[in-house]
Amino acid sequence: MLFSHSKSMESFLKLGMASTDEVLSGKIRAEQISTVMSYTPWMMLANVINASAVFAVFYDSPYQMRALIWVVCVFAISILVAHRWFKVRKKSKPKSISIKAIKHAVTNAALLGTVWGVSGPLLYPYASADGKLVIICVLAGMLCGSGFALSTVPPAAITFAGAVAIGTVVALTMTPSLASFLIFLMAIIYIGIIANSSVSLSRLLTARMTAEVTSQEQRDVIGLLLNDFTENASDWLWVVDRKLKVTQVSARLSALTGLPANHYIGKHLLRGVPVINAETMSDEEAGSFHDLKQCLRKRTHFKDAVIPVILNGQKRLWSVSAKPVLTDSGDFNGYRGVGRDLTEELEAKARNAYLARYDTLTELPNRVLFRTDLELALARLHRSGEQFAVLLIDLDHFKMVNDTQGHPEGDLLLKGVAKRLLSAIRDVDTVARLGGDEFAIILAGIDRPHDAARFAERVRNDLALPFELTASDAVIGASIGIAIGSKGSVDADTLLRHADLALYRAKNDGRGMFHFFEPEMDAEARKRHQLEADLRSSLVKEELELYFQPLVNIDTKAVNTFEALIRWNHPKLGRLNPADFIPLAEEVGLIQSIGAWVIQQACREALNWPSHIRVAVNLSPAQFRSPSLFTQIQNALEDTGLPANRLEIEVTESLLLDASTNVDAILSALRHLGVRISLDDFGTGYSSLSYLQKFKFDKIKIDRSFVNDIDTEPGSQAIMDCLIRLAEDLHMSLVAEGVETEAQLKSLKARGCLEIQGFLIARPCDAASLVRFFDTTDPQTIITAAVS
Ligand code: C2E
Ligand code: CA
Ligand code: CA
Repeated sequence: MLFSHSKSMESFLKLGMASTDEVLSGKIRAEQISTVMSYTPWMMLANVINASAVFAVFYDSPYQMRALIWVVCVFAISILVAHRWFKVRKKSKPKSISIKAIKHAVTNAALLGTVWGVSGPLLYPYASADGKLVIICVLAGMLCGSGFALSTVPPAAITFAGAVAIGTVVALTMTPSLASFLIFLMAIIYIGIIANSSVSLSRLLTARMTAEVTSQEQRDVIGLLLNDFTENASDWLWVVDRKLKVTQVSARLSALTGLPANHYIGKHLLRGVPVINAETMSDEEAGSFHDLKQCLRKRTHFKDAVIPVILNGQKRLWSVSAKPVLTDSGDFNGYRGVGRDLTEELEAKARNAYLARYDTLTELPNRVLFRTDLELALARLHRSGEQFAVLLIDLDHFKMVNDTQGHPEGDLLLKGVAKRLLSAIRDVDTVARLGGDEFAIILAGIDRPHDAARFAERVRNDLALPFELTASDAVIGASIGIAIGSKGSVDADTLLRHADLALYRAKNDGRGMFHFFEPEMDAEARKRHQLEADLRSSLVKEELELYFQPLVNIDTKAVNTFEALIRWNHPKLGRLNPADFIPLAEEVGLIQSIGAWVIQQACREALNWPSHIRVAVNLSPAQFRSPSLFTQIQNALEDTGLPANRLEIEVTESLLLDASTNVDAILSALRHLGVRISLDDFGTGYSSLSYLQKFKFDKIKIDRSFVNDIDTEPGSQAIMDCLIRLAEDLHMSLVAEGVETEAQLKSLKARGCLEIQGFLIARPCDAASLVRFFDTTDPQTIITAAVS
């Protein structure tokens, strides 16, 4: 009840305490109370002795009783306080104390102060002159002594001193005299001094405590960080004195070097470890080491200085950083720093840098480094006019070696190629592997394209020689595209593209060739690109169309089959023939979707024809590489409802060469379905009678080249005679393609050829013309109509 919870009381209890942080305040209070506690027994003893002295003044006086009661009160309170002190004395000093303890101290101070204050009016006026002197001395002593003892808790000190002072002042006014007045003044001064010094003492305490708490926190944080550092990092700490002699070094260094920590103590910073010989340092290392020594001489800080050292006979690279330690007066007093073993890190960096620029298999520069060298060659060209040549080399048949003999053999072959290319170039040239079986060369200082041609010729011949592999020898070849870096050359990309176009041409001209870039190639390539883009959208835009050409019986002129021939109605280029876009479609992988459309469309159209007429569809070898070809055909038949025996597919001999696809199985499955199979363009390409044995075709179509001169050329006639017999014996039908003249027709007829196809009978026509053809009863008239 003594303290209500008013604001002013709160601030009174916090008097002298500058902190608003409750945690810190608790710590400060603990400090305040602990100081007071340490004085408590002495204070209580002083209370008892002083009270006894006052009682002695009244001994044997009429006021003895009054004094006795008073002295008993003092004793009782003193014993009570001392008892409490005794109880808590053994407990360890608390870290934090609540404001209640301050209230408690103030209550005690108020109680004792009141008892002492009361002694003034109660006893002082009734004492003898000597007695008055004793009492006033005791009161002054209590006022100052207790005020001082309680000074760390200003509210307690002020309460106590205030109570005593009020009592003293009242007593003095009861006995007015000059002495009383002077003592009165003294009492006022004392209380002023006590209040003031108590508050400032408490402030000092607060300041000290705040500083202590903050620095403890900092110590904790640093301790944590250091712990973390020594436990996790590979770094070590070191300290040297002003003569650069090691005074401290962390255990990690010992762990790293295998030498005990005291091996380093007392040794010069750079002599505790064996630094490698200056002559064997790289320029970079020597530079960094020199800079470090410079810093040490100037006593300045340094960061990430590299020291190459010898450890267990091996060179290691250490990095050190340090800051100078200064004395209070600012003099240099050594260094404190960290050290780190950088070796692995630098090795990894170097390895990564190597991997980023070199091909690991052949150890030739890779595309990245090649690019850099090409830029350098361009820079030289622009600076001094030095011309150069860029050669792109593509190995022929590498894939075959890789597929048939395995990747390890393929790798060996690539290494062999790299070796031959390396020995072909000069120091100033670059040879790189751009990836896969693609290599590139930069020939420096090429004055005439002729020099580059001679070099290309040599490389081509080198690479055409057999390569010795583990199991057997491999013979491959190379196609080479050449672009010359000369005045007009602007950038690396363009040059590479030019070399690439030249390479494309070289490959198309038949492998094992080299070709220079020509400006027309650029335009061609652009055209091709555009055409490819257009072709991609041609299906969606419904620009493709099927034309049909009849295969007719020579005698009756009756049609038994129509061959479907694709046309592309290009919005700008007009109607395009298959030769203009089918090879492109095959090359860029569009043949699969175009082929699927052709099959569907051909089946759908055939349904509009008389039911004895078949439709023939051309299939590219590339279509056989798609695993879905069989289902494509099956679905087309099912979707349209065309009987399978009304569908014929035309394949070429080159298809049978391709060992990698499952051609036989697909053809057999189709045959099983009822689809008829024709061998197209017979007599071109790889013509071999063995194919006719390998697979039993329903029909062979003799290529136009044999029909062309059938009326004049005895050789062609002999072949034709032979083929007609063969077809008969093998029970295949035979068709002569490309019959254009009556003479050809007559000759074929004379030899016993039964079926023909050609402009003489009919040109390929669109589906609508066909329907008109079937609407009439006289086939001859309609054929003529279709031709016209
Ligand atoms: P092919 O299979 O040999 O087709 C016959 C080609 O000869 C057709 O050319 C046709 O118009 C032409 N021709 C017919 N009679 C005569 C003649 O009396 N004289 C001359 N000079 N030519 C004649 P087209 O339509 O330009 O087709 C060329 C090639 O394109 C075809 O040769 C075929 O291999 C391919 N092709 C056509 N359509 C397709 C298709 O849908 N898919 C695939 N993969 N290839 C197709
Ligand atoms: Ca054909
Ligand atoms: Ca043909």
